[in-house]
Amino acid sequence: MKQVYGVIGHPIGHSLSPIMHNVAFKEREIDATYLAFEVKENQLKQAIDGVRGLGVSGLNVTIPHKVNVMQYLDEIDPLAERIGAVNTIVHKENKLIGYNTDGEGYLQALLPILPKSLDNMRVLVLGAGGAAKGVAMAMTVHGVKEMCITNRTMEKADTLAHECSAITKVSTLPIALAQARLTEFDLIVNTTSIGMTPNVDQMPLSLEMIARGVVVSDLIYTPAKTRWLQDAEARGAIIQNGLGMFINQGALAFEKWTNQEAPRDIMRKKVVEKLGGLT
Ligand code: NAP
Repeated sequence: MKQVYGVIGHPIGHSLSPIMHNVAFKEREIDATYLAFEVKENQLKQAIDGVRGLGVSGLNVTIPHKVNVMQYLDEIDPLAERIGAVNTIVHKENKLIGYNTDGEGYLQALLPILPKSLDNMRVLVLGAGGAAKGVAMAMTVHGVKEMCITNRTMEKADTLAHECSAITKVSTLPIALAQARLTEFDLIVNTTSIGMTPNVDQMPLSLEMIARGVVVSDLIYTPAKTRWLQDAEARGAIIQNGLGMFINQGALAFEKWTNQEAPRDIMRKKVVEKLGGLT
């Protein structure tokens, strides 16, 4: 019987996950389909009951459900527990198991472009939402030298710093101070949604103070090059958008569901095609 997978979120209409996973299932000759399910905040429990009742094989979970969904699952993987958010659910032997592949997906994209190892780098993370949690925790587990977190809502930055500080040295700074001290960082990561389509003129932080050769990374991939990344590139930074993270988090989920290697090149090609050829 055909297996059913999907992504739940709100809004979900523009998700690229269905085309990415359906091409992967086809490539691996797996009889499965992947759908986008619009699930509002007050429908989450019903949606998860439906996964059990209908025998849906696995799910991705996106905004706004990554944290709230955890209460409805049978088991949480230790990394997802530590991050405090789930983006992948595996339905196996009548159990729903929650994982987080965002942070690992981000690292898999980041590490190959770094000019030196992460344990020699001082990192500034902009933002303290769901994506920041995955990325910050993955970098601390991977042994980043030092991390500083800045966010519009400083309480959230402080909480995230506290959660990461069991593993590495983590501090927080208000945005204006972080901006004035940019020369202290080797890697600057935007995990906020500032600059994402349609608000393409916005920038999360002024990069006036960065040194050449710094790595500037943006989790956004629509547009492919945010105004912020364009500015960073013009100032001599090594830049990276969020497309690699998106492909990798999906590929890691696919591998958990199917125990088969994900066809990453084909998944990437399909997504890039859908985005109009921009990488
Ligand atoms: P979230 O939990 O809602 O967090 C949003 C973050 O952005 C918070 O830190 C928030 O600050 C900040 N923010 C939003 N609007 C702001 C504004 N106008 N001014 C200042 N700060 C603002 O969302 P998320 O799940 O972390 O997602 C954040 C971004 O990451 C999105 O663009 C998403 O598309 C991207 N993302 C990419 C991938 C990928 O695979 N590439 C995966 C996940 C997420 P406050 O705390 O002050 O509200």
